[in-house]
Amino acid sequence: MRCYICNREISDNPKDATQCKAHGEHIIHNGIRGKLISKTILCEECGSKYSQEDAAFCKIFDAFMAALNDKLIPADHGKGNPKVILGSLYETTTDDAEAPNRPVQYRDGVVTPIEPYYKIEGNKITVYAEKHRIKQYINVLAREMQNNGDDINAYTIEKVTGIHDQGYLAYYFSKGKDTFNADFKNGVVKIATEYALDCGVAREELKDVIHINSDGTATFDCSKTAMFPFVPTSVYDILFENGRYYFEDGYPSHSVKVFSTEYSDGHRFLYGYVDLFSTFQYYVILSKDYRGPEINKMYAQRLIPKIDEKPDVTYYRPKELSIVIQEYKIDMSQCPGNSYPDQVKYVQDCIRKYPLQTYNFQQALHCASERVQQVVTSLLLKHLGTEYPEQIEKILSQTCPPRLLASMEDLVGKLTEGMDMTQVYLMIQSFEQCSDIRCYRAIGFDVLGGGVESHSQPDECNKLRNHSIKAVKEYTNAKFSHLNCFCHEPESLWEDEAGGRP
Ligand SMILES: [Zn+2]
Repeated sequence: MRCYICNREISDNPKDATQCKAHGEHIIHNGIRGKLISKTILCEECGSKYSQEDAAFCKIFDAFMAALNDKLIPADHGKGNPKVILGSLYETTTDDAEAPNRPVQYRDGVVTPIEPYYKIEGNKITVYAEKHRIKQYINVLAREMQNNGDDINAYTIEKVTGIHDQGYLAYYFSKGKDTFNADFKNGVVKIATEYALDCGVAREELKDVIHINSDGTATFDCSKTAMFPFVPTSVYDILFENGRYYFEDGYPSHSVKVFSTEYSDGHRFLYGYVDLFSTFQYYVILSKDYRGPEINKMYAQRLIPKIDEKPDVTYYRPKELSIVIQEYKIDMSQCPGNSYPDQVKYVQDCIRKYPLQTYNFQQALHCASERVQQVVTSLLLKHLGTEYPEQIEKILSQTCPPRLLASMEDLVGKLTEGMDMTQVYLMIQSFEQCSDIRCYRAIGFDVLGGGVESHSQPDECNKLRNHSIKAVKEYTNAKFSHLNCFCHEPESLWEDEAGGRP
């Protein structure tokens, strides 16, 4: 095993200058709770040179990390989440960053104005400021009023130190970060590159991201690498992504995939696909002239542990214990004792060490496809008119929260327009293929004419990037907004448009 940068042999105890020290490289950054670690691709010395750019990349996601803080799986090392996040409070919901807004900061769960302010209504003054500044600000205000011939004592004063409910909150994602685009691309391409290396792809094959120097050392350079956003290209992906926060069990998750694609003229591409927080979804072309063996590998992890993931087995009966042993794939041959209490103790210990990020992504995809299928089938039955309209409504209200249901109904209507029953049937059948982990993000399936046809998803996305920037923007904005709601006001996702609860 050699370090992909310095090309020296990786060793736990380097003996001379031809060897370098092993290091656990986080392929998905530790700062965003990445848990995929490789000890075979990069040495300690070369890894440490990345620390600044790694930090710049993670900083992009500060607002999400801070909001999800206590729900997240712990980081492997380093301090916890960022302390202060900057943002703006808008008067209305808007896409226009320049619309009237008030700069705010978010600290320990409280939103405060950066500059204190006040409002006068009748004989009441409401003062908005950070807790430690409010007293001083009221003194300043009293003097100011006195100079204008007014007396603050004639008013009742209300102090407000948390202003999250005074408008619509937006955190700065790219605003004020000059190197945002470069930092973002650098981080995403690095994840894809290192995952490919970890999967055994030779660095010589990563022609679009790694430049090998004449002395055998290499440079990671993504300045000319093609990277473009994923956009749903099949009916299934449109529906799944529209409600992914509800359909995906482990939402929001991190995943990375590497796969080769052979084109009809014989040349082959090596693609990376990176998906962070189930939201930031990008393809990276790692090579346009891939000559290695066919590859299709994927890694996915949770960010928020499954609540019931760690059972207390102390009082479990043997039958229940054996279910847990299977579920956690515990190797009982390593159990130090033979008695039942020994086994219970051993199983509990294994469960304690069981990594919280464990995520059966194929299973999650299957469940999601079943959920989407159920919603679509019920909506179609409703649309066709059935003898049991109440039952259908009941099923729908149980399978989908109201806000999502409204948009699903709209989408299903548009997507099936002009389709006959055979086509609709084929479409629903194709959902299963779309959620196969090998095809996921590589090959899309759609009904064309009388049959189901497949297409290369990265190619379609690449075309869309060039021809329909507006559609790409709309999709990425919608995804961003889902994650934002999930982090900052999750209740809103389960309400209907009018704000009522089901
Ligand atoms: Zn090295």
